Amino acid sequence: MTTLAPTPMKIPAVTDAEELTCDVLVVGGGTAGTMAALTAAERGANVLLLEKAHVRHSGALAMGMDGVNNAVVPGRAEPDDYVAEITRANDGIVDQSTVRQTATRGFAMVQRLESYGVKFEKDEHGEYAVRQVHRSGSYVLPMPEGKDVKKVLYRQLRRREMRERIRIENRVMPVRVLTADGRAVGAVGFHTRTGAFVTIRAGAVILATGACGRLGLPASGYLYGTYENPTNAGDGYAMAYHAGAELTGIECFQINPLIKDYNGPACAYVANPFGGYQVNRHGERFVDSDYWSGQMMAEFAAEVAGDRGPVYLKLSHLPEESISALETILHSTERPTRGTFHAGRGHDYRTHDVEMHISEIGLCGGHSASGVRVDDHARTTVPRLYAAGDLACVPHNYMIGAFVFGDLAGADAARYRAYDGELPADQVREAHELIYRPLRNPDGPPQPQVEYKLRRFVNDYVAPPKSGARLSLALEAFERMRADIASMGARTPHELMRCAEVTFIRDCAEMAARASLARTESRWGLYHDRLDHPGRDDVSWFHHLDLHKSPSGAMEFTARPVAPYLVPVEEFTPVGGPSRHLGEVRPEHVATAGPRELAPVAARPAAARAADAGAVDRANARDAASPRLLELLGLAEAEPELAAVEPYLADPDPAVRRTAVAVLTETVPPGTGRALAGALADPDAEVRAAAAASLRELVETLPPEPALGAALAGGLAQPDPVVRAAALDVLRALRLGEAGVFAAALDDPDITVRTEAVRALVSVDAVRPLAGAADDPSREVRVTVAKALATVGSAALAAADRDLLTAALDRLTEDGDPLVRGAALGALAATGCPPPLAARAVAALSDPAWQVRSGAATALSAASADPAVPALAKALADPNADVRKAAVLALSRHRTSAEARAALATATADSDADVRAYAARGL
Ligand SMILES: Cc1cc2nc3c(=O)[nH]c(=O)nc-3n(C[C@H](O)[C@H](O)[C@H](O)COP(=O)(O)OP(=O)(O)OC[C@H]3O[C@@H](n4cnc5c(N)ncnc54)[C@H](O)[C@@H]3O)c2cc1C
Repeated sequence: MTTLAPTPMKIPAVTDAEELTCDVLVVGGGTAGTMAALTAAERGANVLLLEKAHVRHSGALAMGMDGVNNAVVPGRAEPDDYVAEITRANDGIVDQSTVRQTATRGFAMVQRLESYGVKFEKDEHGEYAVRQVHRSGSYVLPMPEGKDVKKVLYRQLRRREMRERIRIENRVMPVRVLTADGRAVGAVGFHTRTGAFVTIRAGAVILATGACGRLGLPASGYLYGTYENPTNAGDGYAMAYHAGAELTGIECFQINPLIKDYNGPACAYVANPFGGYQVNRHGERFVDSDYWSGQMMAEFAAEVAGDRGPVYLKLSHLPEESISALETILHSTERPTRGTFHAGRGHDYRTHDVEMHISEIGLCGGHSASGVRVDDHARTTVPRLYAAGDLACVPHNYMIGAFVFGDLAGADAARYRAYDGELPADQVREAHELIYRPLRNPDGPPQPQVEYKLRRFVNDYVAPPKSGARLSLALEAFERMRADIASMGARTPHELMRCAEVTFIRDCAEMAARASLARTESRWGLYHDRLDHPGRDDVSWFHHLDLHKSPSGAMEFTARPVAPYLVPVEEFTPVGGPSRHLGEVRPEHVATAGPRELAPVAARPAAARAADAGAVDRANARDAASPRLLELLGLAEAEPELAAVEPYLADPDPAVRRTAVAVLTETVPPGTGRALAGALADPDAEVRAAAAASLRELVETLPPEPALGAALAGGLAQPDPVVRAAALDVLRALRLGEAGVFAAALDDPDITVRTEAVRALVSVDAVRPLAGAADDPSREVRVTVAKALATVGSAALAAADRDLLTAALDRLTEDGDPLVRGAALGALAATGCPPPLAARAVAALSDPAWQVRSGAATALSAASADPAVPALAKALADPNADVRKAAVLALSRHRTSAEARAALATATADSDADVRAYAARGL
């Protein structure tokens, strides 16, 4: 049977455009875009939010976040230190005024997100559990339940007050920003499901379309198997460029470590707090760089390619409980397919470390520094045009920076009212042509073929290490590809979207190649490694490299000196000064091998929105749903009161009850907490699990009412351990429980429940029951108790409690299980390590288990120097790198001793990168 290609859709006339009007147009409903829309609406603007996918689950956050990479939490880090670190990570080329916005506003943003219901990891006392991942700075704030961030944001957008001000149009994709009199006045796009032509008239335009993730081709060869969210095809880079805005740092690519053959990050940030780290095949840490940077990637790439490669994320040395906790995060919050991938190879973290590789190249401000030039209020160089998130050049801004700059853009743009002049007809016509051209040629080369070819050239000629010759060949290839792109064929609105994306990718590829050609030095490690200009040249190139589209249509470059810093950084002293106009960048002559007299001049570039897509989604769901489910889904759209949902919580069908829990979680009417606590008693296990998960998800937003406390306490008597554990967790977090209730749970038959009880007891500093739990039959619980004892109390502890604590730790350091002994010894570093215990720690440095030796070395950091330093110096010869690292860190605390300093000096030549780096710092 032959299948006929669908009849191509008809091209709508330019005059058939549906015109939408708003004060503030936000393009892209991901991280930065949703925040920009919320803030602009809060400031009184009428906002139109256009998203080419669906806001509920689009963008980099869609599959969840495992942590904030760059939270400057008061008491844990200083904004100026963060600014200095980002400056160093970028070899000095930063506009510190932008980075400082993230440093100073990031914490308020964390709190704002928390008020929306986003959960960040906190310790038992309710303090943020910030982690140190790199050697300098403690900025990583884990989000074990980060899978819900997008859901939470969507809930905010759909609050009644916001709905009145924010119109969301899903599946509408702008392709060009419109300008008049040099300022942004709107955009042109189309509906990716119906093909309808759409024009937008706006007072200001905020581009928040994310990274250019589809620039290089992944090693797998799959077009969409990218590190970045593949819908982020560089749309905003192209739109900003054609609107006349400056882009900057485009030659500083994004390249990330990732799992080999799998489309996803290895998540060393997640694994690190559990004891996982990157090593070469000899099991040695090899990264000397102190922070995430191109230099770090260069070290990584060299190790992968060298004799000591491949590179692994090492997890196989971890105990079962750490591995299963990691599996829960990595195989659910991060990416569910990850577990399937490893299982398909017969690999397991217990038996196989995870082989890693490097990603394809991309453009990204958030992970690197390639983006649209913005000031400290997200303003581009085109008036009333803003850029925020990964699209903007605010180096290493990541998720929290995207939120901060979305907020800044929304606040600034909110002062403009809708444009009421004529929309520029020529620009509208050109955009119409760009969108619908492939329909005139339905049998032309299909987008996947053209895109594959284009991105293969990117890999061949643009990816580092770079050279003038290869970059010149790239430019030739990209010029040729203009014709291939112009002849691409499409028949459906979806294919039109893909074809438009290929034009964006080509624009980005050309920018990447020309910018790389223009900067005749090497900088940012792997990100801009020029084989023909191997050194860093601070005399000529301590500059930003800006590019823009000149009025003639040519891509022109300017070298802009780095402005004097707000936060001094020892290594660099920028003095500012005038910019150097470089003009166009021509390719080198590479058509014939050997010299030629005349360099050739580069060829110059040739010159019914229909149904609400949300309704389409819901309609799809309805096809398969029962009538009660249909009613519920309808209710969800209408912000129901609790009373309207309650009957569904009592429905005989568990699927309906489960959905009712989901609706409550999404809409959160008053009384939700109690209703969810009630659902913990549901006869169906899945409903109970959903209610438990929802209570945990909403914990930051639920009022701590006594009635909720009573309902949760009721959950402690339920036979289901999932319910009991969740009840304890939520009681603790809302400060609704008492020591007696928590202590009773120490007798629970379930390990998870007892572990939650330990955490809850720490939150109320209840030493006596905690000390009793040191005899728990489960190793996992005893490890938790050992760590907990290090965090309770402090100076305020009564003498009797202190004695109990010491006695419990004393017992635990002699536990039969090495992991418990290791954890207990490690705890002594916080509680103190007086002589009898110090002697035990010294002896434990000879224990066969490395975890015990590592804990013993840590304990000795709090012992007096006499017994500690000689023993620690000996431990520097331990075969296990983690033991040596612990010894180095402990010796650093004894650095007033000459013997300790001498020992540290020897460790600066250790084969493990962490050991030598911490030794050098300790001196
Ligand atoms: C794999 C991965 C892991 C990460 N892990 C972390 C982490 O653990 N911690 C951390 O702090 N940061 C992390 N980040 C970085 C962080 O997620 C991003 O910096 C941030 O989410 C970027 O936000 P954004 O708004 O710029 O882009 P996005 O959130 O991706 O939003 C862009 C949106 O624009 C839409 N769009 C694109 N083009 C158009 C168009 N033409 N018209 C309409 N809509 C359009 C897209 O569909 C998308 O919804 C990670 C990123 C990735 C890719």
